[in-house]
Amino acid sequence: MQRSITTDHPKESCGLFGVYDVGTAASSIHRGLFAQQHRGQEGSGIVVSDGEKIRSIKGLGLIDEVFSGESLAQLPGHLGIGHVRYSTTGSDRIQNVQPLVVECVDGIWAVAHNGNLTNARKLRRMYQESGAIFQTSTDSEVLVHLLADPMYRSRPRRVARALHELEGAFSFLLMTKNCVMAARDPMGFRPLSIGRLNGGYVFASETCALAQTGAEYVRDVEPGELVVVDAAGLHSSRFAECPTDRLAQCVFELVYFARPDSRVFGYNAHEIRLQYGMRLAEEHPVDADIVISVPDSGNDAALGYSRGSGIPLDFGFIRNHYVGRTFIMPEQRDRASSVDMKLSVLPETVSGKRVVVVDDSIVRGTTCKRRVACLREAGASEIHVRVSCPPTANPCFYGIDLPTHEELVGAQMSVDEIREFIGADSLGYLSQEGLLSPFNNPEHFCAACFTGNYPSDVSHMKGKEALEASAPELALDP
Ligand code: AMP
Repeated sequence: MQRSITTDHPKESCGLFGVYDVGTAASSIHRGLFAQQHRGQEGSGIVVSDGEKIRSIKGLGLIDEVFSGESLAQLPGHLGIGHVRYSTTGSDRIQNVQPLVVECVDGIWAVAHNGNLTNARKLRRMYQESGAIFQTSTDSEVLVHLLADPMYRSRPRRVARALHELEGAFSFLLMTKNCVMAARDPMGFRPLSIGRLNGGYVFASETCALAQTGAEYVRDVEPGELVVVDAAGLHSSRFAECPTDRLAQCVFELVYFARPDSRVFGYNAHEIRLQYGMRLAEEHPVDADIVISVPDSGNDAALGYSRGSGIPLDFGFIRNHYVGRTFIMPEQRDRASSVDMKLSVLPETVSGKRVVVVDDSIVRGTTCKRRVACLREAGASEIHVRVSCPPTANPCFYGIDLPTHEELVGAQMSVDEIREFIGADSLGYLSQEGLLSPFNNPEHFCAACFTGNYPSDVSHMKGKEALEASAPELALDP
């Protein structure tokens, strides 16, 4: 009999938080993850150590669903790492929830990853062919196999050498029973920052989590840097050379993903979005009565558009904060209906008005189309959609969950066709120059989802499907 097995390789854009000697590790990590819930809602986990024993709790769902006051009490220890996970359809398995905890010949390791490894399939296949068994379908697990590989087992260079084998986007937090490590890929795709709290150290994907735990921001983990914190303090080393002309910090973090109060790659997300809105008003002016945002992700750019154009800002949509991010719904149908649950129009604001509606991005176009229809139903006389980034026309292979070319409306249609599809009177996107204009070194950013210029070779990863079909059809002989 023949059976076929396929494995999915989810793309993940997640949040990390780690601590060393800041007091009770679990409660700090819980707070740090909570501040980063927007980076992942599918699952979360905390792993801590008291120097002797490593303990962990992981689960599917929001942080509040996974952890209660009592569960945190079961996690004594002064060091630890945590993870919130965001991934694509089909991968919401408990085994994939991080941090991954594994027992190697020299003890227990925990691993938490944000990003997407572009050579994970190759490494996975190599280890599988030599007999290794993988427990999860995440790309992150290849690091575990590299760490356990006898070839790399002469610590501390072992971790650096293992990291050196990886390609693509990664910010990692690792821990053993007595140390926490943080590393960022040589191109610096994903953020990772270092803070100080109560004399100890904190690591966070976003600085908003440092602020919310009372930690003071110290600096970012540098691209290609491995930071180790243990009883002797903080040590830094490099596991890779990082020429500045190869830096590829993800601009989409600043467009959409990061919380407005975070500093990412040295820039405050709110300030950047405000500038995008002002630039958008310059690039795509229109006569209108009010500017409204699609909350919350369009708020900052809408304010910028209003300031730039002099058109007053008003509240046109009211958001129900108890409905999750619509993007996470697997089915297009569910996505459309949950848009209705999430946002309602204030007819008192928009009725009879010429409305500029500002959103951060259009991906599939589903939500935007629905919002325009709602504004029409509520009596808006004209609807002018302004988007604070260029058309999203290319998939991301570095950890942002963007669909394939086929599903990206920006890849399939011209701007005017998109305008017609969403039913707007006019549509204006921020230009590619406008997108990079706020930065001192625009060449240090990856904007491949807009430009199609990928900063590394991704020819072997033609689409999400290619990533998700890691294992060949296997013929099993029972
Ligand atoms: P849609 O055009 O219907 O696919 O939805 C686009 C909306 O989803 C945008 O307004 C963003 O606020 C949000 N969005 C954009 N990119 C992502 C992403 N990678 N993950 C989750 N939500 C996103």
